[in-house]
Order: sequence, then C-alpha cells, then structure tokens
Amino acid sequence: MARPDLSTASGSSRQGNLPDLQLREVTKRFGEVVALDAVTLDIERGEFVTLLGPSGCGKTTTLRIVAGFEAQTAGSVSIRGERVDGVPPYRRNVNTVFQSYALFPHLSVFDNVAFGLRVKALPAADIRRTVGQALEQVRLGGLDRRRPHELSGGQQQRVALARALVNEPAILLLDEPLGALDLKLRKEMQLELKRVHREVGITFIYVTHDQEEALTMSDRIAVMDAGRVVQLAPPREIYEDPRTTFVANFVGISNLLPGEIRERADRSTTIELDGGWRFGKTLRRPPGIGEKVLVAVRPEKVRVAPPGRGLQGRLEDFVYLGSRATLVVRLAGDRLLQVEDPTAQLGNGAGRIGQPIAVEWEETECLVFDAARGERVK
Ligand code: ATP
Repeated sequence: MARPDLSTASGSSRQGNLPDLQLREVTKRFGEVVALDAVTLDIERGEFVTLLGPSGCGKTTTLRIVAGFEAQTAGSVSIRGERVDGVPPYRRNVNTVFQSYALFPHLSVFDNVAFGLRVKALPAADIRRTVGQALEQVRLGGLDRRRPHELSGGQQQRVALARALVNEPAILLLDEPLGALDLKLRKEMQLELKRVHREVGITFIYVTHDQEEALTMSDRIAVMDAGRVVQLAPPREIYEDPRTTFVANFVGISNLLPGEIRERADRSTTIELDGGWRFGKTLRRPPGIGEKVLVAVRPEKVRVAPPGRGLQGRLEDFVYLGSRATLVVRLAGDRLLQVEDPTAQLGNGAGRIGQPIAVEWEETECLVFDAARGERVK
C-alpha cells in the first residue's frame, strides 16, 4: 500500500513555529515484532492529537519512544526542533499521565503535585502558588491535604494531571488516562481534559482505542494500524472521508458491501452490489469494468426504499430506541446491514421481522474502495 505523506496533512502547518513533535521514519522492533513501521508525523504547538487504533497497533510504543522510556530501532524524534534521540526521559521536555495514576500513596495531594517543583528546588512560596493554581485548574481546590486513597478514581487522575502540568512540559503524553473510570465519569473527564487543554495551551498527545473518545476530544486523530499511521486528520475528516476501509470500519460503524464495476459512462460509474442492485456513482478515477469494489455506507445514511427499488433483503431485527430505531437487514450472501433510522419510519417494525425489505441511499452518501487494497476510489 502506498504510504501517504502525513507530515503535511491538513491542519498541521502554522508558519513560523516549529512543530512541537516531529517523528521521522520511526521504526521499533521487539525481536521479530515490528511494533512501529517507519512512522512520520508532525504535531503542532498546542494541538490535541489522539493516537487511535486497536490493541497492539503501536500507540503506547509511540508514546514511550517520545517520552524516552524506549529507544527506537531507526528514525528520529525531535521535540521543539531538537533531536532527543538518546536523551533520557527526565531531560526531555515532556510529562506522562498514565492510566494507573502512579501517585505516591504516602504523600498528600499537595505534596504529590509539588514533587517535581521541589526536585527543581523552587522557593516554597512559588511552589505554594503554582500547586494551588494547578489544583484549581483541575477543580481540586480544597482537597490538597488528602491522601490518594481518600480520593475517587477521577480525582486521583486529576492529581496526576496537575502533577504533570506544574512542570509546564512542551508536550503532555496521556496513555489511556481514563481507562480505569466508569463510562459516565469517563465522559465527564473527557470534557474536563478538553477544557484544561484549552486553558493551558500545552500540546497533548493522547492514546486511546475508544473512537468516540478520540472524536470528542481531538484537534486531529492519528489512526494507527499494524505499526503505521494510516490517516492523520481532524475528527470530521476521519469520519466522513476515511482513506481506507480500515479507517472507515474502525471509526464509527460502516456497512461494507462487495460489488463490481459494471459500466463507465462520462463521470457516472455503474456499480452492481452483490444481490443485484445497480446504482450510479460519480467517480473521477473509476476502476475498470469488472473490478471488485467495496461500498461503504454509514447506518444513518441508509433509508428504507419504496417497493420495486433498492437493495433487497429481509428484516432480521428491529430495535426501538424511542427517538430512533435500529434495523438489521439480512442481504444476499448472508451479509448483515445496519440502518439507523432517526424517524423510526418503520413504525411497528418488530411486527415485520422476517419480511422482505429494501434499502437505498443517495450516491453522494456512500464511499467506494478498491476491494483488493482497501484504498479509497474517488
Ligand atoms: P494496547 O491498546 O493494547 O495498549 P498498543 O497499540 O498500545 O496496544 P503497543 O503496546 O505499542 O500497542 O504494542 C505494539 C506491538 O509491540 C504489539 O505487538 C506488542 O505485543 C509489541 N510489544 C510492545 N512492547 C513490547 C516489549 N517490551 N517486548 C516485546 N513486544 C512488545
């Protein structure tokens, strides 16, 4: 697969400022395992960038290499324009917040946050002021005498965040920091982290495998697969304009339907899906007649077709969710297609389970991918 140049991806260039982080062809091998495969990316000052991908794709390894906990096998890392290869973690201008908080259990909240400043031997009055500000920033004012075990998980993570922020690093690395929290608290903390990021203006690099979390928080998302960054773009672009079937599938739900190119007329290309439905699609560079493609369509873009039209199937399941409904349609080849129906147009859909149903979508609402390589055809 051709490797896209990610160093100039959209939204990344701001004149006059060197990127806070530059990775150039960074490769990491653990014996036979290639954890990172020539990763190149630039992260601008003050950005919130999320590394998103399935377990084992290399997110944590990337973070550990930036932090200096791990040395890359090849390639270079620069922070604010300075090569840091071989520089130990404590001399890099970065701090890490871990999922496990890693607080000192015997120290109070205040002393946990003050720790780094005391190491730097700052005057006591400065330490008091800086720690106080940081605790206010993470909404922990008044809890400074407590010990970590007297705090909730969310509060402990706020302490870890304050402890990192007082050091004013160029880059804050966050490795699944909300992973241990329950869903409701996690959602609250996502918004809190976003607010703190806006207030402090420090570059945040955030690791998660949770796509919704990535969409909520990030200026840009780097989607990773098997040690590579396959797309680096703002959340909307990742969702609406995925470059590969992997990205389309990993971020949000995509129905991926096999089909074949049947006709190529001036601009309009006729695609026939398995199951026999033919539709026209405007493609600038259509594949040749007979080529296999995958058509991706989001559940919210599919609608129930009137009789005699669309892709035929049977209603497999109907889930009524009050303001909307989800339909599962079984298509030819036993393939399942999901429909998100915001108007609950089927009404009592449950009564129609097992009955024939047809679906369709606007040609502009679906994306076409080359079936062999999984790459987008435009
Ligand atoms: P997760 O979401 O599960 O944390 P990840 O995307 O962070 O996954 P990494 O932890 O970066 O993935 O791992 C990338 C690959 O490198 C995996 O195949 C992993 O097994 C391997 N790996 C990571 N650390 C080591 C190590 N110390 N020794 C050997 N292999 C390792």
